[in-house]
Amino acid sequence: MGDQCKSDRMETTELDALVVGAGVAGLYSMHRLRGLGLAVVGVEAGDGVGGTWYWNRYPGCRCDVPTIEYSYSWDEELEQEWSFPESMSTQPEIERYLNHVADRHDLRKHFRFETRVTRATYALAGWSTPTAAIASTCAGW
Ligand SMILES: Cc1cc2nc3c(=O)[nH]c(=O)nc-3n(C[C@H](O)[C@H](O)[C@H](O)COP(=O)(O)OP(=O)(O)OC[C@H]3O[C@@H](n4cnc5c(N)ncnc54)[C@H](O)[C@@H]3O)c2cc1C
Repeated sequence: MGDQCKSDRMETTELDALVVGAGVAGLYSMHRLRGLGLAVVGVEAGDGVGGTWYWNRYPGCRCDVPTIEYSYSWDEELEQEWSFPESMSTQPEIERYLNHVADRHDLRKHFRFETRVTRATYALAGWSTPTAAIASTCAGW
């Protein structure tokens, strides 16, 4: 990847993958990619995990499908243990679950919060993604 990623930026981090967002998909991606032994960093604009369920806090906010569908099937033990108090949970309950997953699998430390991807450029060597907090991050995919 080397020189094409370095260009004129102050800092360069070479990664196998950059996960954008710490929502339901981002948490799973981080767990899965790190489980494969890859060098991965996550970037999240908000200051916490949850994505949709972090940002949307209006009164009455809840999902409109049985919340069990939000339960990660890759953690069978947690799936058995965890009990959502209502079948179609409110935003605080879903956010609580996603925070629990982040802590249980120690995923939070791999994310840079309050950090936004502003641009991504593809070159043959991979993606180059500057953020407000990381001058340059290069990811293979
Ligand atoms: C009120 C509400 C109810 C819903 N109910 C249901 C439901 O019942 N069933 C259902 O299946 N779906 C529902 N959805 C859809 C819901 O969004 C998805 O189910 C799911 O939570 C999306 O997860 P995600 O990780 O893909 O994306 P998101 O939750 O959107 O997470 C994306 C994250 O990426 C971050 N991000 C984005 N761009 C950048 C950037 N450039 N730099 C840094 N960070 C960035 C955002 O801050 C965000 O935290 C609902 C959505 C809302 C708003």
